[in-house]
Amino acid sequence: MGLIVQKFGGSSVANAERVMNVANIVTETYKAGNDVIVVVSAQGDTTDDLIEKAREINTHASKREMDMLLSAGEQISISLLAMAIEKIGCPVVSMLGWQAGFQTNSAYSSARIKTIKANRVKAAVDKHQIVVVAGFQGINKYDDITTLGRGGSDTSAVALAAALHADKCQIFTDVEGVFTADPRKVPGAKKLTEITYDEMLELATLGAQVLNNRSVEMGKKYNVEIEVLSSLKRVPGTIVKEVANMEKMLVRGVTKDTNVARISIIDLPDIPGIAFRIFGKLAAKNINVDIILQSVGREGSKDIAFTVSMDCAEDAINLLNEIAELQGKNIVCDTEIAKVSVVGAGMETHPGAAAMMFEALYEQNINIQMISTSEIKISVLIDKADADKAVLAIHNKFIPTES
Ligand code: ASP
Ligand code: MG
Repeated sequence: MGLIVQKFGGSSVANAERVMNVANIVTETYKAGNDVIVVVSAQGDTTDDLIEKAREINTHASKREMDMLLSAGEQISISLLAMAIEKIGCPVVSMLGWQAGFQTNSAYSSARIKTIKANRVKAAVDKHQIVVVAGFQGINKYDDITTLGRGGSDTSAVALAAALHADKCQIFTDVEGVFTADPRKVPGAKKLTEITYDEMLELATLGAQVLNNRSVEMGKKYNVEIEVLSSLKRVPGTIVKEVANMEKMLVRGVTKDTNVARISIIDLPDIPGIAFRIFGKLAAKNINVDIILQSVGREGSKDIAFTVSMDCAEDAINLLNEIAELQGKNIVCDTEIAKVSVVGAGMETHPGAAAMMFEALYEQNINIQMISTSEIKISVLIDKADADKAVLAIHNKFIPTES
């Protein structure tokens, strides 16, 4: 008995049958004596389809108008789900982001939640109505609709759970939980019963397809226990929390990210201030830089290479071309690469994880182009063509399949 926030992603509400399935899960939870707040995403590929519709008209549409458009997807799913719940005979009310009190900053298309003025949601819950809230959206100080960035409904759900001190936040999706690798590519991948916020944050950032990283950040900040589970198969999922059972695991997961580009600048003058000029300029334009490598200086010159996400590569190169010291320098962009990472809190206290990972790559004759580490992760940059093979080999090294 308590207050439960349940979030359903686009695939879980993709068609009428799936919407009824969600209505059944929600009303079963409600009939068991809980109050339920449901957060939903747009149906299936709706958001992508809306983006495509916009492109047919204007490839450089303003972010304000994009948010106005994309927020419509969630409006469809909340009303349909509410109708399905009505049909089952439970009291229900749907609310758009602004009606549920989601106030955000004004960064259209990647807005951050500032506060949730949840009185209306609370009042409905007090009357024991099921509240169905549109994920991914809010309103800014100009009363404009904003969206939280792709995959933002997870964040809406966790934020609402935090604001209302919910007892549980369940994120329903089309997989059974968080796996040690993508189970479609790695047959031996195992479902985790528990994982820490920090590990999940790394996995989410490094290419695991479950949970949006901002939602994990939010869960950690407000200590909201998150359960990731399937809407199609009723089995326990994965719990994300502060301290998780290690289950004798050195590594919690192996991921790949092919949405990376490497930019190399050759023959830079080896003088103070160059790195600052390059990365200061990129930072001022909010371009996130990941792995950075600088060569040893030789005869007054050096090379710098770094990675950015693929969609930022063009902007990054244009910015570099504006820097005086880089005029006439050779700037090379490589997109045929992948970042493969291992994540696990166990590595903090156990030496040798890096060597194990490199051995797995060596055994497959895969060359490492760049390396980066933190206490709980190791990432390597390799050829894109080798990515799946690398993930499999590394997974087999750290998490051997039981025979
Ligand atoms: N519908 C939005 C998207 O596809 C938000 C979400 O799914 O969380 O990105
Ligand atoms: Mg979606």
